[in-house]
Amino acid sequence: MKPGLVRTPSRIVSDRAAVLIPLPVAGAYDYRVPEGMELAPGQFVRVPLGVREVTGVVWGAAEGDIDETKLRDIAGVLEIPPLPADLLRTVAWTASYTMTPPGAVLRMAMSVPEALDPPRVETAYVVAPAAASDGVRMTDARKRVLDFLADGRARKAAEIARATGTGAGVVRGLVGRGLVRAVSVEPAMDVPRPDWRRRGPSLTPSQESAATRLRGQIAANAEDKVTLLDGITGSGKTEVYFEAIAAALARGRQVLVLLPEIALTVDWLRRFENRFGAPPFHWHSDVTGARRRETWRAVSTGRARVVVGARSALFLPFSDLGLIVVDEEHDGSFKQEDGVIYNARDIAVVRAHHAACPVVLASATPTLETVVNVERGRYERIVLPERFGGSAMPRIAAIDMRRESLPSQTWLSPSLRDAVTRTLGAGEQALLFLNRRGYAPLTLCRACGHRIECPNCSAWLVDHRLARKLQCHHCGFAARPPGACPKCEADDAFVACGPGVERLSEEADEAFPGARTALMSSDALRSAAAAEELIGGIRRHDYDIVIGTQLVAKGHNFPDLTLVGVVDADLGLDGGDLRAAERSFQVLHQVAGRAGRGSRPGRALIQTYNPDHPVMAALVAGDRDGFLASESRAREAHGMPPFGRLAGIVVSGRSEAAVDTACRALGRAAPRGGEIRVLGPAPAPLALIRGRHRRRFLVKAPQGVRIQPTIERWLRQVPMRRGVRIHVDIDPYTFL
Ligand code: ADP
Ligand code: ZN
Repeated sequence: MKPGLVRTPSRIVSDRAAVLIPLPVAGAYDYRVPEGMELAPGQFVRVPLGVREVTGVVWGAAEGDIDETKLRDIAGVLEIPPLPADLLRTVAWTASYTMTPPGAVLRMAMSVPEALDPPRVETAYVVAPAAASDGVRMTDARKRVLDFLADGRARKAAEIARATGTGAGVVRGLVGRGLVRAVSVEPAMDVPRPDWRRRGPSLTPSQESAATRLRGQIAANAEDKVTLLDGITGSGKTEVYFEAIAAALARGRQVLVLLPEIALTVDWLRRFENRFGAPPFHWHSDVTGARRRETWRAVSTGRARVVVGARSALFLPFSDLGLIVVDEEHDGSFKQEDGVIYNARDIAVVRAHHAACPVVLASATPTLETVVNVERGRYERIVLPERFGGSAMPRIAAIDMRRESLPSQTWLSPSLRDAVTRTLGAGEQALLFLNRRGYAPLTLCRACGHRIECPNCSAWLVDHRLARKLQCHHCGFAARPPGACPKCEADDAFVACGPGVERLSEEADEAFPGARTALMSSDALRSAAAAEELIGGIRRHDYDIVIGTQLVAKGHNFPDLTLVGVVDADLGLDGGDLRAAERSFQVLHQVAGRAGRGSRPGRALIQTYNPDHPVMAALVAGDRDGFLASESRAREAHGMPPFGRLAGIVVSGRSEAAVDTACRALGRAAPRGGEIRVLGPAPAPLALIRGRHRRRFLVKAPQGVRIQPTIERWLRQVPMRRGVRIHVDIDPYTFL
């Protein structure tokens, strides 16, 4: 079956059933339902596939007309709860929208194969009902055990022994006399449940009215209600959506919270625990092994009430979803760029639609897509206009780098150095922001001009001095810095060009002697624990200057931090990417928002060579809505999203000639003349990644036109040679 033509699972299951198998090539296959087997959509079944037997999911009634004699039997049904209907529909929708085989999407929903194994059972003990203790010698130890079990709960021998201070023989003795019975139980993580009855902080009037509206949606079970919670950083968006979570829990429903950069959310987790007295379940790539299996099952059985996770948590088998929150909805990390290419923010809206529950999208810098959805009346907007506690938003000023004179190989202008010095003098902290990992983005031979490039990608190797290696940020290739130039053989002729955070940290150490500096980047912080420790240290003011990549831009509250210096505000504007301006605005606004979150006012200084650029002008004027309005006009004029539709088609392969041949064939077959235009092929800006040559087509269509069927028909006309791959990216975010 072709992707894009997936029907949603039906309820009727007859003597034939369609079973979807979690493989990237598969659609649903038809099987015979053996006499006496009862099936419902979503159930896990074992089916023969070639010479193997695999686990699949009942997708609906069979629709093919395969000859009776060729049909094979479903081998058995797994004894675990079926995937819920809203998840099946979300899988079908995602497959069709992203033009991915539904089996590949199903695979994300079955990402824990072990969770499908029959549960291990353990032996536990309960008081035997109506047991007569007459004639049984009642020792002290026996009494203690019976008292402990009097509440009727089953407990394991070790737990009984620990709680009553008795040996295992006592329980055995009671079993022998019929007073206690052994039972089999499924081991479960014994986790406390978040308690919605606990009181939250008292809310400000605007927070309270926002919370009341969200509670109302949950009480009304408002289907298809998407709400943008639009509040400046520090306005209490988190506190407000915690109230919505409490309301959903009070109604006995499950809650999913999606956060970007999940590994760095220690702060968020602490607040959640303070508010609800228990932690949520976690779901992200660091959750592995037994915990992953337990979590998947706890979500499926409903034991997990609140899950906080990365985008893949959307495909967990929640049985009774009552609310989805997408925090920092503008964050680019919600877009998955490999495998199934999807935007978790959008799929969250789809899942909530199928689960008939509300969604809250929270952000201080919402995306243009979301804002336009509000303007079109599709989404509701709730505004939190002021910072909690009356602290003001930081003042933002531009430093015009054309007027500053800096010694070569330095990046902190005299104006910025001056501001940092005064900040430190006042006993406050400063943050220097540069969104570039490593020491220097380019290493150049002074003698011959040779640039050190990645052997697999059209990209320079980035100098990572702390790790003493040159590394490619696209494929991960790493090498020791060479002693001599590979081209001209000059010794020690290499110079590092441009700054990364490691180099900036060196400059800060020289410029501010005695100041304690902290480096915050994904290379410096290898684990969540390391990140937590550093964040704690910054909060305790163990450091005077924080130097960081976008990792510092997010969420953190550092009370003594009053100055943010953006070292290269122009960095994100390069590249000609559709969302470059919007993303720059978001990141710079976000990082500026780290300043002045305590009692002292904050300010941000942004170093730029383009102080008149609309992004810089809007930041300085504090005019987010004005920026969005002008950005919106520009996109509308060019028919760009969200006023038009885009899809990227990347053709790649190891043989450049084969890729070019494929592109010529695709170019000849491209749809012409209709509403849908195909641009390209053009060499991708990163023309080589991981040894694969890449060319791009861009498909452009007016809003409201479904582009998938056209793309589908087009691509089907051109058979691909082996080794040439096509990736379709609907609503692309990167154009590399
Ligand atoms: P946002 O998510 O909008 O950035 P937060 O919810 O993180 O805002 O709130 C910012 C800070 O203010 C947090 O430390 C939070 O605990 C505190 N805060 C917000 N609202 C209240 C309130 N009503 N009572 C007490 N503290 C609050
Ligand atoms: Zn590379």
